[in-house]
Amino acid sequence: MNFFDFLFPKLCVGCGKWGSYFCSKCVADISQGDLVCPNCERAAIGGVTHPLCRSKWKLDGLWSLGVYRDPLRKAIQKLKYRYVSELADVLVDLMISYWAKYTPQFIEELKKGGEWVIVPVPLHQKRKNYRGFNQSELIGQMLSRKLGLEYSEVLKRILSTKPQVGLKSWERKKNIHGAFSLTVDGSLSAMSILLIDDVWTTGSTLKECAYVLKRGGAQKVWAITLAR
Ligand SMILES: [Zn+2]
Ligand SMILES: [Zn+2]
Repeated sequence: MNFFDFLFPKLCVGCGKWGSYFCSKCVADISQGDLVCPNCERAAIGGVTHPLCRSKWKLDGLWSLGVYRDPLRKAIQKLKYRYVSELADVLVDLMISYWAKYTPQFIEELKKGGEWVIVPVPLHQKRKNYRGFNQSELIGQMLSRKLGLEYSEVLKRILSTKPQVGLKSWERKKNIHGAFSLTVDGSLSAMSILLIDDVWTTGSTLKECAYVLKRGGAQKVWAITLAR
């Protein structure tokens, strides 16, 4: 046991077993559930937005690693409040292996690179200072390194909104409206974006970000989250 292990003992976030931050048994317990269309939240193959649900300013798809329940829920909570890059690493590897296994055409398209850019959902600076980091940036940066895709923080949070927790769907939508803007002048045209966040709850934050990105000229915006 080295000094680092002594300071931060490697205990599984799911079951508490010693040896790794997320043991293989708990990883196997993540339930992916059905992928859904981001607009009507009904089942959709690969998470691609249904043709009838498509619209110019809306998300083109939603992909989540799993359903928001334990052990994935515990892992995400851990990630939010303490920087555990090794845990993020396990989750990001898992995302990539799921893509390779279940949606190989998706990872093929990403690997062609080209116009795909990874963009994290930003926290307001005040909140980021308080937490010390933004877990969506951490995941986005890891995905970008592992997939060889460009990473860009083109969104910024201009309003410090109330936490969305406990608000109804319409309240969330109202609360988040106008909270984001672009950090870059000019157009995002020719960009297809993987928009990264930790959890999809009602989707109001990711939908608002997609709207801002598309108004800025983005061609396609996919929401990618750890849980839904
Ligand atoms: Zn475990
Ligand atoms: Zn739909």
